[in-house]
Amino acid sequence: MVCVYCNAKTKVVNSRWKKQYNQVWRRRECLNCHAIFTTDETVDLASAWMVTDKLTGIDSKFLVEKLVISIHECLRHRPNAASDAINITDTIVARLQRSTDTSIKIDKTVIKEATFVALNRFDTTAGMLYRAIHGI
Ligand SMILES: [Zn+2]
Repeated sequence: MVCVYCNAKTKVVNSRWKKQYNQVWRRRECLNCHAIFTTDETVDLASAWMVTDKLTGIDSKFLVEKLVISIHECLRHRPNAASDAINITDTIVARLQRSTDTSIKIDKTVIKEATFVALNRFDTTAGMLYRAIHGI
């Protein structure tokens, strides 16, 4: 990876596995300007998971952005809806990764149910809204 300021090569000066989110956190230092910045390595779930919709019979790639948007829709009444939506999405994805129900293909209803549970625990209004929109 190159430096975000001068595009020179960088070296990793510290690295940790964030077990909860299955990510690798790295501190990098630029070999030219000595700037220090952080990177997170995460699984590209769109390349790993397919979502199966039993109603339509259509399989599609798992797009984490779709999950963030659907959660954000239900959190609009909150002051930090965007960051809350991202944090809740991270929690749901981590739970799905740890779940024994998760394989290459995930039933859409499993994702909806996990999302409802997480949202409802965080904010019951958001949970009820999600349930109404997504028909759980
Ligand atoms: Zn640099």
